[in-house]
Amino acid sequence: MTPVSNAPRQLLRRLHGIMAGAGKAEQRLTEVVRLVASNMIAEVCSVYFMRGGEILELFATEGLNATAVHKTRLRIGEGLVGHIAMTGLPLSLSNAQKHPKYVYRAETGEEIYHSLMGVPIMRSGKVVGVLVVQNKTQRQYMQEEKESLQTVAMVLAELVASGDLFDPLEQQEATLERAATSRFEGVIFAEGLAEGVAVFHEPTIEVVKHLTDNMPLEKKRLGTALEDLQNQIEEMMSAEDVRHQGEHKEILDVYMLFAKDKGWQSKIEDIIDTGLTAEAAVEQVQLNNRMRMEKMTDPYLRERLSDLDDLANRLNRHLMGRIGSAASDNLPDKVILVANNMGPADLLDYDREKLCGVILQNGAPTAHVSIVARALGIPMVGQMGDAVKTVAQGERVIVNGVEGIVYFSPPPEILQSYQENIKSRDVLLAEYEALRDQPSVTLDGVEVELLLNAGLSMDMEALQRSGASGVGLFRTEFQFMVSDSLPRVGPQSDFYRDILNAADGKPVVFRTLDIGGDKPVSFLKREDEANPALGWRAIRIAFDRPALLRYQVRALLNAAAGRELSIMFPMISDVSEFKMARNILQKEIDRQKKRKSPLPKKILVGTMLEVPALIWQLDNLLPLLDFISIGSNDLMQFFFACDRENPKLAGRYDPICPPALLMLKSIVDKCEEYNVPITLCGEIGGKPVTALALLAIGFRRLSIAPASVGPVKMMIRSLDLAGVEAYMGGLLSRPDHSLRDLLTAFAKDHGIKV
Ligand code: PEP
Ligand code: MG
Repeated sequence: MTPVSNAPRQLLRRLHGIMAGAGKAEQRLTEVVRLVASNMIAEVCSVYFMRGGEILELFATEGLNATAVHKTRLRIGEGLVGHIAMTGLPLSLSNAQKHPKYVYRAETGEEIYHSLMGVPIMRSGKVVGVLVVQNKTQRQYMQEEKESLQTVAMVLAELVASGDLFDPLEQQEATLERAATSRFEGVIFAEGLAEGVAVFHEPTIEVVKHLTDNMPLEKKRLGTALEDLQNQIEEMMSAEDVRHQGEHKEILDVYMLFAKDKGWQSKIEDIIDTGLTAEAAVEQVQLNNRMRMEKMTDPYLRERLSDLDDLANRLNRHLMGRIGSAASDNLPDKVILVANNMGPADLLDYDREKLCGVILQNGAPTAHVSIVARALGIPMVGQMGDAVKTVAQGERVIVNGVEGIVYFSPPPEILQSYQENIKSRDVLLAEYEALRDQPSVTLDGVEVELLLNAGLSMDMEALQRSGASGVGLFRTEFQFMVSDSLPRVGPQSDFYRDILNAADGKPVVFRTLDIGGDKPVSFLKREDEANPALGWRAIRIAFDRPALLRYQVRALLNAAAGRELSIMFPMISDVSEFKMARNILQKEIDRQKKRKSPLPKKILVGTMLEVPALIWQLDNLLPLLDFISIGSNDLMQFFFACDRENPKLAGRYDPICPPALLMLKSIVDKCEEYNVPITLCGEIGGKPVTALALLAIGFRRLSIAPASVGPVKMMIRSLDLAGVEAYMGGLLSRPDHSLRDLLTAFAKDHGIKV
C-alpha cells in the first residue's frame, strides 16, 4: 500500500485518541492541527471557526504564527478561507496567491506558503468553520488527501457541538442574523397568514458519533440499515398516494437503484475501515459525491445530487433509529413545516393545534397536499426552490399565503406587523363566523347564492361550518387520484352516499371525472403531452374509455337513490359532446330501470363551461340542459391563452377586465334568455372584489372555496347592487388592462367591504 492510502487510517486512529482524551477543547484542537499537518505532510494546518456576526476566527494553527490565534479574523467571503465558508465547498490550489480571493494577513506569516487546500466544517448543513492545510511548494493535493481533511472537519464539528470551545448558540445567532433580511417568494398553494418556527418534516440527521474501534459492528449496522432503507422505498412505491404528490415512480426507481448500488455500499464500507462509524461514513461518501456533482453542469445529474442527498439522509435516519417524520417528535407550539414535498397523509399526521403553516421547496397548487392544506385552512407557500435550504430548524418563519411570500428570521418590525395582521385576521374570521346564519342578500334585497367547491369528505364539514347553501362543484377525481386501481362501483357509490349524507339535504353538484392533464391517476398510463391542459383529459378520456364514466354515473345513481342528483360534465367543447355524455347517463338510467334498481327522485344534468367554443353554441346547448356552471379556472386560461399552472404568468391577466367580463356577461345574458340557472365555480368567485364584478354583470350564484364564503358574504351584505351595476355599465367599454383598482376604489367609497 502507498503511504497515502495508509494515512487516513492512521490519522483517524490518532484523531480518535485525541478526541477521547482528557484536556480542554482548545488544547485538543491544537493537537489535532499538529496531527493533521504531520500526517498530511503539510507545513501548515489551521482551523477557523465562525463566531457570532459572520466572522471566521483562527482558533488553532500549526505552522502559522501562534500569535495570530484569536487575532486573525475574516468575514464570510473574505480571503480564501472566507470564500470556502461562503461556498461551502472544498478548495485546492497549487498556487493560492494567484487566486483572486487571496488576501494576505501579515500577522500570520503565511506569505511563504504557496499551495493551499481547505474544506468547510459543516454542522446541520451549515458552515461552522474552515480547516486548511498549506505547503511551501506548489503542490497538487490528491483526492484522498481531500477526503481525509473532510473527515477531520467532520470530527471537528463535534467539538463545536460539544460547546467546549464556545457557546454553539453563538453560531446559531450568527445564522439567524445572516437570515434576518431573508424574504423569499413562492407560489400560493393555500391562502392565509401564519407565523411560527421552522420544523423540518424530515429533519436532517446530525451525526454525533464519528469514530469507532469496532468496524465489523459498523458494517453490520450499515447492512441492516440498507435493507431497511430498501424496504422503505419499496413500501413507498406501493403506497397508495405516492404517485400523486409528485414523488413519481421514476424518482423512487432511481432511489432504489442507488439504495441497491453495491458501489455505494462498498464505498461506505471502505470508509468504515478507516475507523469511522457507519453514519459518519455515509456522510463522508455524501460529501465526496456532492463535491463531484457540484462541478457538473448537467441539470439532470445535479438533480440526482439532491436525490442522493435525500437518500443518504434517509439511510442515516435508519442508522440512528429515527425513521418517522417530525410529526411524532415533540413539537413547538407554532409549527411552520418545511419540506421538499410531501403527501396529504403526511400533513394529516401533524397535530392540527400546532401546525400553523407549510413551506415547500417544490409541489404544485393542484397537488393533493395543497388541496388538503386549503381544506384545513393551513397557509401553504410552495415552489420556493433552494430558498428552503437556507432556513434552519427552529428559525422563526412567516408564511404569507396571501401574497406568496415567506420570511425567515423576520426583523422585529415585520414580525410585529404580521402578528398584528394575524390577530386582526382572527378577529375577521370570528366576524365571518358570526355571519354564518345570516342571509346572503345585498342591501337592496338581491339574494346571492353562495355554494362550496369541495372534493374531499372533510370538505363537507366546511359546508355546515361556512353556512354555504350547498356544494356547487364536487370534484370527484380526488377519490380516483388516491387510488391504485380504478375504484369499483361499490366503493364509489359508498363515497358519494357519504357525501350526500353529510350534505344533509343541501344540494350537491357532482362533476364527473376530470382526470388527465395535471391530475394523473395511476390506472391510466400517463402520456407525455406537450400541452396537458389542452390534452387528453376530463370528458375526452371518458369518451375514449366509456366504462369509466358509465361506472361513475352508475355509482352516482345508486348513491342518490330516492334523492335529488345533480351531475355535470367537465371540458365539454361542443353540443355533440354534451349529447354523448348525456347518452351515457341515459343508458345507465335505463339499465337501472330495467333492473328495477332504485333511482334518484330527480336528476338534473348540466355542463361546465370551460372551453370558449361552447359560448357560441349556447343557443343550441341551453335548451338541452338543466344548469350550467362556468369553470373560470380553465375558461380564463383558454381565454387568455395563459397556463394556469405557470407561476411566471400568475397575475398577468386579470379577469376583472373588459374583455373577460364582456365574455362572461354574454353567457349570463344567454342563460337568462333561456331561463337556465348559471353558477360560476372557478377560484375567481372567491375574491370579494372579483365577486363584486361578477355580481355587477349578473351572476347570482357563486361556488367558492370554504374560506371564501365569509369574506364574499360580508361583501354582499354591504352592497347596493344597483349602484355597482350602473357603475360597471360605464366601465366595460374601456380599454383598461384591469378594472380592479377602479372597482376597489368604488367599493371603498361606497362602504362595500371588499
Ligand atoms: C375550473 O376549471 O374552473 C374548475 C372549477 O375546474 P378545475 O379547477 O377542477 O379544473
Ligand atoms: Mg376545470
